Amino acid sequence: MVSFSESEGSSPAIRRVLVLGGGSAGLLAALTLKRLMPALEVTLVRSSEIGVIGVGEGTTAVFPSHLFDTLGISKEEFYREAQPTWKQGIRFLWGPRDEFFYDFEFQYDQQFPGTRKATGFYSVGDCRDLSQAGALMLQGKAFTTGPLNRPVIKGQYAFHIENHRLVTCLEAIAARSGVTIEDDTLDRVEMAGGEVAALHFKNSGSRTADLYVDASGFRAELIGKALNEPFKSFAGGLFCDRAVIAGWDRTDEPILPFTTAETMDNGWCWQIEHETFINRGYVYGSDFVSDDDAKAELLAKNPKITAEPRVVKFRSGRYERNWVGNVVAVGNASGFVEPLEATALAQIIYECRWLVESLNLTGGQPDDAMKTSYNRIVGIAWDEIRDFLAFHYKFNTRLSTPFWNHCRNETSLGNYEELYRLYREVGPSPTLLVHAIPNRPNIYGVEGFLAMLVGMQVPYQRVHLAIPEEREAFDRQRQKLANVAKGGVSVRDALDAIRKNGWQWT
Ligand SMILES: Cc1cc2nc3c(=O)[nH]c(=O)nc-3n(C[C@H](O)[C@H](O)[C@H](O)COP(=O)(O)OP(=O)(O)OC[C@H]3O[C@@H](n4cnc5c(N)ncnc54)[C@H](O)[C@@H]3O)c2cc1C
Repeated sequence: MVSFSESEGSSPAIRRVLVLGGGSAGLLAALTLKRLMPALEVTLVRSSEIGVIGVGEGTTAVFPSHLFDTLGISKEEFYREAQPTWKQGIRFLWGPRDEFFYDFEFQYDQQFPGTRKATGFYSVGDCRDLSQAGALMLQGKAFTTGPLNRPVIKGQYAFHIENHRLVTCLEAIAARSGVTIEDDTLDRVEMAGGEVAALHFKNSGSRTADLYVDASGFRAELIGKALNEPFKSFAGGLFCDRAVIAGWDRTDEPILPFTTAETMDNGWCWQIEHETFINRGYVYGSDFVSDDDAKAELLAKNPKITAEPRVVKFRSGRYERNWVGNVVAVGNASGFVEPLEATALAQIIYECRWLVESLNLTGGQPDDAMKTSYNRIVGIAWDEIRDFLAFHYKFNTRLSTPFWNHCRNETSLGNYEELYRLYREVGPSPTLLVHAIPNRPNIYGVEGFLAMLVGMQVPYQRVHLAIPEEREAFDRQRQKLANVAKGGVSVRDALDAIRKNGWQWT
């Protein structure tokens, strides 16, 4: 258990934390702080009047590992209450190939035995099964099969989870972990000396804390409205700003072990696989299509839709600093980049972990240098997500609509321009390209960028002409992965397995 003793001459150690907002960001922040620093007094106030955003249903592999390995949350309870299904990656209907996958394992940052180059050099044809995860996705399977024909639920998997279910589940766990949860709506913020002095709520009066976590979603009540921190917009490079969301009840469709991202006329559409519901969301640029026309395209391409489509507006960008004085913003209150790689929950987790680390490193008395360092690392992470998404838009040659022409012409690759320049010369060589990654640590690594560049068949000069022996060795390795995947377990069978008497989580 961490408890802080105060060092002389500094401000008193942080003991009481007030989290404003009880969406997935507020709850993950409260849970992470309370579970990793139990001596902190953590109160979360959220408004049932305002509610939560109700979207954010695909995770990356960071999410389960944070919940189960870092926070020690019971898998049994989480699977029972949140009812996630599993996701091994994203299936892209994007670029010139019929489809390609981006999973959470290594596809391109590796070299197969018997070949002379990294896998990307051989991926001129089908490249969907270069990892075990990819091979599973290709077979529509979630996991490999282990002893007693059980699914091996390990490794780099992620979830699809319905947002309200997730929030309800996290709230129950947070309350039991010692977080005090109150329902009230913020009325006004009292400021003193450029910091928050108190929060005044409509019903319960004023509350004070040593640290305020702004998790109030797009409203950004503290960082944006009270502190007036400048917002750095990404609209000049990412052109989508709305989503129209709808879906239908699952009947006989298999539950797919991946999110699908499909190119649309003015953006793209996700397909998220819940156990009993299929959720589709068309993310588009309102400068290119009206809400009604976007709805019409979504409905025309998905005749099964029964739910009334709803439009969600968003703006891409981040606050220049996420930690200002005694306020730290997390989740949509800190920034937002559209959901093409489903990164928001992962970014929330990074923010929470860095916050805990910052408190630990400074004995609970974070000084300006610590805050500057926190802001730098969080800012770099947001900008990396922006640049990674830029690659998706810049090189998608699937359609030639005004929207996609605009993306190909106008999207800037930001801090990753150099990586692309080098790729054009040397090809998909992870050993060379890693030196063009501008910051460490980074989220996607060379693997992520290669998955998109090779997936979209972005041309490069130094093509490798494989000799027949290499090609055979390459195909032999793919065949091995495919054979294991063929004997794998589907999402449906894996869900049945974990609900059977006698199932034990290890
Ligand atoms: C179209 C779309 C698709 C997305 N898809 C994904 C995805 O697939 N994967 C992913 O990781 N993320 C996705 N996201 C991001 C997703 O929204 C976030 O991951 C996540 O849900 C974080 O939400 P939040 O907690 O920051 O905000 P919210 O859920 O909006 O929560 C805000 C909280 O603050 C409270 N609050 C606000 N104002 C006040 C006030 N004045 N007084 C008291 N309480 C207040 C609210 O009541 C609520 O509890 C998507 C976002 C959009 C817009």
